[in-house]
Amino acid sequence: MKNVYLLGATGSIGRQTIEIIEQNPNDFNLVAISGYNQLDELIDIASRCSLKMICVKNQEDAAVLKGIFKETEIVYGDEGLKSVASLNPEDSEAFLINALVGMVGLAPTIAALSINRDVLLANKETLVVGGHLIQELLASHSAKLYPLDSEHNAIWQALNAESMDSVNRLIITASGGSFRDYTREQLQSVTIEAALDHPNWSMGQKITIDSATMMNKGFELIEAAYLFDIDIDRIVPIIHRESIIHSMVEFVDHSIIAQLGPHDMRMPISYAMYYPNRKPNPTQPLDFSTINALHFEAVDYDRYPLLALAISAFKQGGSQRTVLNAANEVAVALFLEGKISFLDIEAIVIDAVKKHQGIPNPSLDEIIAIDQAIKTQIRNEYEK
Ligand code: NDP
Ligand code: MG
Repeated sequence: MKNVYLLGATGSIGRQTIEIIEQNPNDFNLVAISGYNQLDELIDIASRCSLKMICVKNQEDAAVLKGIFKETEIVYGDEGLKSVASLNPEDSEAFLINALVGMVGLAPTIAALSINRDVLLANKETLVVGGHLIQELLASHSAKLYPLDSEHNAIWQALNAESMDSVNRLIITASGGSFRDYTREQLQSVTIEAALDHPNWSMGQKITIDSATMMNKGFELIEAAYLFDIDIDRIVPIIHRESIIHSMVEFVDHSIIAQLGPHDMRMPISYAMYYPNRKPNPTQPLDFSTINALHFEAVDYDRYPLLALAISAFKQGGSQRTVLNAANEVAVALFLEGKISFLDIEAIVIDAVKKHQGIPNPSLDEIIAIDQAIKTQIRNEYEK
């Protein structure tokens, strides 16, 4: 029996994680969770289990939950997220699942690793903005970081504990997102609804927009560079419309091992939760008789400038990645609020990264300060 601490319980990854826990009550015990805007959903989840701690958005919501869950500790805000991540430090048969969206996930990841708690990471922004901090922590602690993101989970499976010395390249597949068949001219007038209509995956809103701009693939290259400690130039993105192959490892002898499966995040989540074992799950098996072909095409970096920008921001290092992420978070939010057009997302992020005077190896406090400054500055500009 493993104890599970879950951040982002009300989200797409969070709800799928809870499904796995509820289907396997002898294997997992949910101890603490967090939610944010969806208070009713959080109350619904909390009513189904006996929790030690719940983290909510603010003090007002905390007062509501205290009235309902009298035996449970209720915390709130960014400090509350860290409290959930590091609750019961002596609990060694446990892991944190970080399914938060955005850089708010960085501090709780650090809090969990700091008490030697393993982290199953969906929150890729943790590594985009703070990969250097996480690498340092992993080097000095026994805790492990395991990827839930389907591409990285696929690489983890395909590597199967072989040495990175045997690896030539990592090949990361990309669906191309909602607008993969649109020209840049056609992108000028796309709607929020069309952007949220991903061809293959059902996910949270922010990552669905990030997939359409391919910022998501840029983030995933950075994520892979840190997770597998490999030069980013040896990570190759390739468009694969069917999203059947989740990613591949090419070894030095040019043998390639790919991981395939349905478009269902319950598979990588379950793999990570049961690692090093495997357990049946409710996903539908692939039916090869219905798959006529698998397609691959090279990525056009002019078509997806944010992918190219992510690679260059990673190579520049330091706080460029904080700005890349902060500008993207606020631009995606402004697009979803109907305040800017789809192509404005790219323009805002490119402009912010270009203007930023970077600092090397920013600390957590510096990352938080830069993140806040960039978000405030861009919001002020576009909400005038
Ligand atoms: P969702 O938007 O569906 O869920 C995000 C979760 O974080 C929700 O529980 C939300 O609460 C909470 N949250 C949002 N903002 C804050 C905040 N400021 N403070 C505290 N909590 C907050 O996202 P996804 O589940 O889609 O994605 C989660 C992470 O996993 C992202 O980093 C994403 O890139 C990554 N990922 C997701 C995949 C997917 O299939 N969905 C696939 C691979 C990676 P509430 O809903 O109550 O507001
Ligand atoms: Mg992914």
